[in-house]
Amino acid sequence: MTVRTRVAPSPTGDPHLGTAYVALFNWAFAKSQGGECILRIEDTDAVRSSAASEARILAALAWLGINWDEGPDVGGPRGPYRQSERSAIYRRHAEQLVAAGHAFRCFCSRGRLEAMRTEQRASGTPVAYDGRCRQLTEAEVSERLRRGEASVVRMRVPASGQCRFRDELRGAVEIPYSQIDMQVLLKADGLPTYHLAVVVDDHLMGVTHILRGEEWLNSVPKHKLLFDYFGWPMPALAHLPLLRNPDRSKLSKRRNPTSIDYFRDLGYLPEALVNYLCLMGWSMPDERTLFTMQEFEQAFSLERLSLGGAVFDLDKLNWLNGQYLRALDVEAFMDRLASWAINRERLSALAPLLQTRTQRFSDIAPQVAYLLGDRPPLEAGNFVHKKLNQEQVGEILFRVAAATLTDWRREELHALCKAGAERMGLSLRDFLFPLYVAISGRPAALPLFDSMVFLGADVTRARLREAIAAVGLSKKQRQRLERLPP
Ligand code: GLU
Repeated sequence: MTVRTRVAPSPTGDPHLGTAYVALFNWAFAKSQGGECILRIEDTDAVRSSAASEARILAALAWLGINWDEGPDVGGPRGPYRQSERSAIYRRHAEQLVAAGHAFRCFCSRGRLEAMRTEQRASGTPVAYDGRCRQLTEAEVSERLRRGEASVVRMRVPASGQCRFRDELRGAVEIPYSQIDMQVLLKADGLPTYHLAVVVDDHLMGVTHILRGEEWLNSVPKHKLLFDYFGWPMPALAHLPLLRNPDRSKLSKRRNPTSIDYFRDLGYLPEALVNYLCLMGWSMPDERTLFTMQEFEQAFSLERLSLGGAVFDLDKLNWLNGQYLRALDVEAFMDRLASWAINRERLSALAPLLQTRTQRFSDIAPQVAYLLGDRPPLEAGNFVHKKLNQEQVGEILFRVAAATLTDWRREELHALCKAGAERMGLSLRDFLFPLYVAISGRPAALPLFDSMVFLGADVTRARLREAIAAVGLSKKQRQRLERLPP
């Protein structure tokens, strides 16, 4: 049997560190077994998925040097590798489950489900589908379908008993079926949910081992039932520990930089970031910290994974990146620096801003210091302004940090700030003041929106978050800001 693993990102946002981490372990495991690793795009959520996000994820993985043997970009014998192109396959499989009595049509309206949930909450019973449509006869179902009533397909779940399975990292796991909802498999629009698509694809794509984040452990009973209903063997499972901060809290986008692009934009070396991600819960047999992806592959074994060790510590990453930088010979160091800092593309973004503000080339370095390096540290005093109080400063920073822009461009940023200023009854000039400080450390710098575009969304947001912390808002003020309408 050829070992086949898969990386299955959902293209719903920034290229996340967690995706790279899971990809590395899947790749290393497959290669250590002489196997193959595929990349599958899980875009069943049509509203949140986007082609732009998919392109960024693929580009970020490529920047890190992570490969796959089959995927939407490289093709392969078991495609298509994008779930949105496989709808007919899922529909067929859902129908097969209905015909065999393992799934049923459910006509409950949104209103009925809402009322059911409210009642369940009020009476303290677990919120789950109550099974009303399970009793419908075949004749009733055909009649309602004929009348064109909207329906979904739900899976049947045993009313009692335990789901028992093995996780390669945890050993035997038991989850009672009473905790498992009668999951929707096919939505009213005929598109699958994740649970149906993942099982069908893992089988049809010949996946033998599933290595994925531990947040999916509780979904295994649904998947195991589906594998059983179809009569397919279930792949081996290993749920990798979640990436955590040094204080053990979950690494989350709201608090931490989690986008791979952030690390690229700040001038980390991809091989150092990869090396660091390989250390998440894993250690080399000789415990050395510095190694290449090829060495990782050669030494890889699931037994060396520890569930508690996936701590992502920026200080350690910085140290490791420094080791890599110092190990480069001077020629390579110059090339890498040039390609990060002063390549033509980056320079062409800066040149028009600088040319009009420069008398001598020696004027340039101080003007771009905050763009090519960090800005000075901030404190509350930096944000004192005669027309803005502390809470308004916080609100401005918060509004921009929380905004979800599809295009991180000058025009969109301008429109965002203009709308924010109007909402708060401020002039644009006053609205921009705390942003200048947050981005550059000074009340004035090179044009703000160009600076934000140059730094990129991830670095900009990280600076805004640091600025919010520096302003020193009370807990109550922060809570108010978190509830602000967009
Ligand atoms: N699409 C899921 C995610 O983005 C993958 C889950 C899985 O690997 O089964 O996390």
